[in-house]
Amino acid sequence: MELLTIGAFAKASRLSPKALRLYDELGLLTPARVDPDTGYRRYAPEQLEQARLVAWLRRLGMPLARIRQVCAMDPGEAAGEIRAYWARVEADTAARRDLAAFLVDHLTGKDPTMSRTTAPLALRYAALSDTGRVRPSNQDTAYAGSRLLAVADGFGGKGALAGAAAVDALRSLESETVPAGDLLNALEDALGRAERAVHGVSAPDDGIGGDDTDAGTTLTAMLWTGSQLALVHIGDSRVHLLRDGELFQITHDHTVVQSLIDEGRLTPEEAASHPQRSLLLRALGRGADSTPDLRLHDARAGDRYLLCSDGLSTVVPAGDIHRVLTDAPEPESAVRELVDLANASGGPDNVSCVVADVVAQA
Ligand code: MN
Repeated sequence: MELLTIGAFAKASRLSPKALRLYDELGLLTPARVDPDTGYRRYAPEQLEQARLVAWLRRLGMPLARIRQVCAMDPGEAAGEIRAYWARVEADTAARRDLAAFLVDHLTGKDPTMSRTTAPLALRYAALSDTGRVRPSNQDTAYAGSRLLAVADGFGGKGALAGAAAVDALRSLESETVPAGDLLNALEDALGRAERAVHGVSAPDDGIGGDDTDAGTTLTAMLWTGSQLALVHIGDSRVHLLRDGELFQITHDHTVVQSLIDEGRLTPEEAASHPQRSLLLRALGRGADSTPDLRLHDARAGDRYLLCSDGLSTVVPAGDIHRVLTDAPEPESAVRELVDLANASGGPDNVSCVVADVVAQA
């Protein structure tokens, strides 16, 4: 078997000789032979496959230490490792994209050339949570105040407590005066409190017995700043915005089926009847990925927001939600009608709705 010089091997593998020397030093790609006198490295042709894999993984941005692990695995295991690595990259990128959008919105709001509405705005709101027709208890929490709107859908042994604790932890935002520039930090702190509160509920050794470590909750909340609504979203509760007669879903479900839809592996119709459609990718709870989606929305007089748990969205078609939000004169009648619709469709789950209107202050 003829060995390749480092120059020929570099050309074939698309790695530079300098990179090859580094990978040798790191134990990532050891030459087949190193000449004891000259120190020249020589490579076997069958090492090309591994070299190409290293080159592609470098192009993915994978750190060298992790590449070394992947190279030591069998192909199936390596595929899983690359998939896991990429899922993490996408989650990080999504969080950074949100942060960028948040900062753009924040700075755009400060731009003196942007026209501002002169009339101060306020929220008119209502919240309603119902057990539904099937479940023995209500593990949802719905909350609406002058500055905070929130829905939490608890799950597990102490799901009701977990959801309530998460919303409770956010309620200090109602009274805190948050300077606009400090909004992100205030939200981050509040989310930290919410997460600790949920972890407290699901502590394994509370002495009461039983396993409560599975307790967790979704959390979808909006904080009113006077001209904007900051959105924090983890899980599969949803926010819809009715603006100029059109209904927009402004949250993205953190569920397994939604990610399959995003990848083109499942149609929305198939997802609706999927047996694992409530399986969450993100939540507040032990061992769960709690990375929130964060957004800042400019409020306009006439906007109507709906926050709801999946107990509404899984049984009430979007067209019906649109109709109720368009027709109901007040937030109170809107939440009542939406909850009634869910129960009329069998009420298989707890159902929670928060409706808030952005109105010009009298
Ligand atoms: Mn639910």
